[in-house]
Amino acid sequence: MDRRSFLKAGAVASLVPTVLFSRNPIPEINLQRFCDSDAYGRYDLSGPFAQLGWTYATDGRVAVRVDERPTIEPDDKRRVPDASVLCWAGDDSDGLWKPWPELRYEHWDCAVLCPQCEAKKRLGPGVRDCQECNGDGYVWEHFSDDFGDWEEPCKVCNKQGVIGGFECDRCQGKGSIPEAQVIGECHIGPLYDKFVRELPGVEWLEPINPGTRDSSGYSLEAIRFRFVGGQGLLMPLSK
Ligand SMILES: [Zn+2]
Ligand SMILES: [Zn+2]
Repeated sequence: MDRRSFLKAGAVASLVPTVLFSRNPIPEINLQRFCDSDAYGRYDLSGPFAQLGWTYATDGRVAVRVDERPTIEPDDKRRVPDASVLCWAGDDSDGLWKPWPELRYEHWDCAVLCPQCEAKKRLGPGVRDCQECNGDGYVWEHFSDDFGDWEEPCKVCNKQGVIGGFECDRCQGKGSIPEAQVIGECHIGPLYDKFVRELPGVEWLEPINPGTRDSSGYSLEAIRFRFVGGQGLLMPLSK
């Protein structure tokens, strides 16, 4: 699983006052899918937030921003990053705007989130977290003499942590696949690709220069994209 994040990389250190986006119907663009479903770490990225004229949604690996949505409520307690300092594409950006690439997956050694079940492992109506194991897939067992505890695979959900519906045939119920979408010289997770691909009129900025690479040759720079009504950033995969 790729864990690279432009937030954790230290690019965003400061906290600024913010306003909480109220959960009114959002026209066209579903910002929630770009947020972090697990609220953890030093920021609360569990929902969109408004800042200096923009509304942002990010999970630390993908980020989008659109013109500030009209219905906002002040929330000074929520910890969010100063998203304005990220490397959003500007009019002067070096590169060539191109349509988002055609679907093309290549084998990838690391498991990345399944685009079909959106990492939920199961599809169809009634898919929900397993109550027996609280979605962990494992339950604690205890020796009768209190000698110790150990984890056992949950028999109710067969280690999946979810029940209902039917098993995703794309990932065989694993929630991840060993494939990645190709974009320029980089690879991105198929689930992120799916979300970005669905944005209206989406284009990406193919850089003129290769940019900063890690020792294995993987890009350390976010892929910049734009769409009708907004802009975005996406970290490429590394191994
Ligand atoms: Zn799947
Ligand atoms: Zn279970």
